[in-house]
Amino acid sequence: KKFEDLNLSPWLLNSFKQLGFKQPSNIQYNTIPAILSGRDIIASAKTGSGKTASFAIPILSKLSEDPYGVYAVILTPTRELAVQIGEQFNAIGSPMNVNCCVVIGGIDTVTQSLILEKRPHIIVATPGRFASHLTNGLKVALKFCKFLVLDEADRLLGEDYELEIASILEHLPPPNQRQTLLFSATMTKNLTKLQSIALNEPFIFED
Ligand code: AMP
Repeated sequence: KKFEDLNLSPWLLNSFKQLGFKQPSNIQYNTIPAILSGRDIIASAKTGSGKTASFAIPILSKLSEDPYGVYAVILTPTRELAVQIGEQFNAIGSPMNVNCCVVIGGIDTVTQSLILEKRPHIIVATPGRFASHLTNGLKVALKFCKFLVLDEADRLLGEDYELEIASILEHLPPPNQRQTLLFSATMTKNLTKLQSIALNEPFIFED
């Protein structure tokens, strides 16, 4: 298993050298080609399996070919996870100066609004804070958003986040104009949960 097999932008291979990533993990090797080919996915793997880079790598690869407006919205349940995901995007994407913005509670909303208006490439957010920006009328350039990622999808598609996720979805392009990527530590077998988020014949991977 080699990163060279995955058809990624060449600058990424350099980035992996810098970061000491020698070869793709199992989940990366299996999901990256499906994501690059344009498919929706449902994937499960434990923390520490390289789950975050499984979506960060193909999103950054595509972004470097077509940088315009907000390219991807990543939702995750906790502030800590959002910060960690943001750090991985910045680390892997540093050669292309990726502009990644973390939108979480506990940070001044006015400062956050100004950053959001500058069209970051990637928004990593907790649902509550992002939904409140959108419902309070902040204009975020989401029209050309290509990816919606739900990290810890099992939790995000439960009742606790129903209203926030629904209001965020209203602001995103429809399912046929974006890719939806669901990642979780446990396989989401609860199909009623998944119905709230329309997927197009998803590629399913269980580590
Ligand atoms: P995660 O499972 O997403 O929480 O990632 C766990 C850690 O593994 C993170 O610190 C990543 O930077 C690191 N990592 C991700 N992919 C690889 C890889 N292919 N080789 C080595 N380390 C990796």
